Amino acid sequence: MTKTTAAMPEGCLVGIFGGTFDPIHHGHLRLAQEAVEHLALDQVLWIPAGQPPHREMPAAGPEQRLAMVRCAVADNPAFAVDGAEVFSQEKSYTVLTLERLRQERGAATPLVLLTGADAFAGLPTWHRWRDILELAHVAVVYRPGFSIDPAALPAELATEFQARRCAPGELAQRPGGGIVTFPMTPLAISATQIRQLLAAGRSPRYLLPEAVFAYIRAQQLYLQPRNLGT
Ligand code: ATP
Repeated sequence: MTKTTAAMPEGCLVGIFGGTFDPIHHGHLRLAQEAVEHLALDQVLWIPAGQPPHREMPAAGPEQRLAMVRCAVADNPAFAVDGAEVFSQEKSYTVLTLERLRQERGAATPLVLLTGADAFAGLPTWHRWRDILELAHVAVVYRPGFSIDPAALPAELATEFQARRCAPGELAQRPGGGIVTFPMTPLAISATQIRQLLAAGRSPRYLLPEAVFAYIRAQQLYLQPRNLGT
């Protein structure tokens, strides 16, 4: 059993949140929570990646990363976990995830891909990036005080951004194609930092849910100084 997606009635607004979650932390959780509130999402689907295309393999195994995500989101009725990709040997291309979800959820369900502003700026390097913009809406998270400046985006993306930009209230009206921005509370937490703290014998307490930290201790994760990131 690798999948725990709560069934949603047709017409519901579903946020898609992918990542390695190695481990999941409060930065991820606040992003998803604030997306629910700003974009009126009915659900956020957490999708731990199997083989991320642009980075080395995660330090924790797929079962462990899936277990940590499940335990972190279990008490939030708006969050569901999709474990369909975490065990895959194929690269976790976002466009393939969205094609799968389109098949599963139907052509009419609005899907909203959640991305950070830095990830969004790199979108033209993603596999079949223009198809991504058709398959789903894209919601770009920015920090209060920092606008997303089209002049700083690659020209082809700036054109798409300006043409597709819409208000959160419009997301439910069509299945995809729009781009929205929303703010979140800045939390400078990264999984890299947590892995580095653990490998150095220091505590990541309060950077991530206590239950996830307990799991990390029980499994003795991240004690070796490998795959720590830069
Ligand atoms: P790593 O340090 O291993 O690169 P990470 O903490 O960036 O990991 P990922 O699993 O790679 O976590 O991230 C999944 C998504 O969450 C990405 O879109 C990333 O931009 C976003 N994200 C991660 N940490 C934060 C944070 N503190 N605030 C906002 N967004 C975040």
